[in-house]
Amino acid sequence: SIPLGYFGGIGAASRHGILFKGSNFLDALATIRQVVMDKTGTLTKGVFTVQEVFISEGFDRAEVLAWTHALERNSTHPVATAIREYAGPVDDTLRLEAVEEIAGYGLSALLDGKQLLVGNFKLLDRFGVNYDAAAGHTTQTVVAVGYDGRFAGYLTIADELKPDAAKAIGELKTMGIVPTMLSGDRTAVVREVADKLDIPQAYGDLLPEDKADKIKELKAFNYRVAFVGDGVNDAPVVALSDVGIAMGGLGSDATIETADVVIQDDMPSKIPVAIRIGKATRRIVW
Ligand code: ADP
Ligand code: MG
Repeated sequence: SIPLGYFGGIGAASRHGILFKGSNFLDALATIRQVVMDKTGTLTKGVFTVQEVFISEGFDRAEVLAWTHALERNSTHPVATAIREYAGPVDDTLRLEAVEEIAGYGLSALLDGKQLLVGNFKLLDRFGVNYDAAAGHTTQTVVAVGYDGRFAGYLTIADELKPDAAKAIGELKTMGIVPTMLSGDRTAVVREVADKLDIPQAYGDLLPEDKADKIKELKAFNYRVAFVGDGVNDAPVVALSDVGIAMGGLGSDATIETADVVIQDDMPSKIPVAIRIGKATRRIVW
């Protein structure tokens, strides 16, 4: 039979909006040594707004924005939401074919038989589209557009830190837990967020499979690792970690399904709360 302490722990957690899918995860969280977090949607709000638009010579601004919007309509990524809100109503005369979302990169499609790419610079690299190097210097997230093998321009978008992110990081460090940030976003952006939050370990430019490799690498040190993600592209990493935690509000169904613990209000400060409840429960049970 399950000791009473576990029920108490699960109940206490649920009063904080933290859903444990089993008492074994209370135990596992009690001994966690490292908490690995996704950036977008976990430590930041995951609500991007378009800041600036740069259009390459020979391209028309309205046209490039219409293409971008039409393609992003096919994605649920937070980046796509920003573009949809910025670009207004979609141009229904555009006929996109062979639309494909490439996790960690963006989207590709055919527009009148020509290739349209909307995503990060890695996406343009992957398809051999050369872009203006100056565009690489911004510390904002970039959405680049390639059309018919040419660089059509880019938009910069910015996200905000969650108000309790710094508090969450500080409390983890006080508990002797190493906070680590992983992101598919550019290293320049990731570094800036890590500096602001005082996160000692942060890695950017990671594809979903690179995030999984990072978790395996950390687990090889015999550390118990928890991963916290917002959902989009994160399900494999959540499954690999000792305890997979999902942000429940923005999270994708796949990640919430795979997660062992769900933080229903998306607040990162609930991560140390969950660990503390795990530790307290263990003291009662053992
Ligand atoms: P993260 O949540 O850490 O940003 P993701 O794997 O979700 O990691 O995404 C990695 C990067 O891929 C994003 O930062 C963005 O640059 C790019 N990307 C992913 N999906 C899209 C999309 N629909 N449109 C444009 N860029 C995208
Ligand atoms: Mg993500």
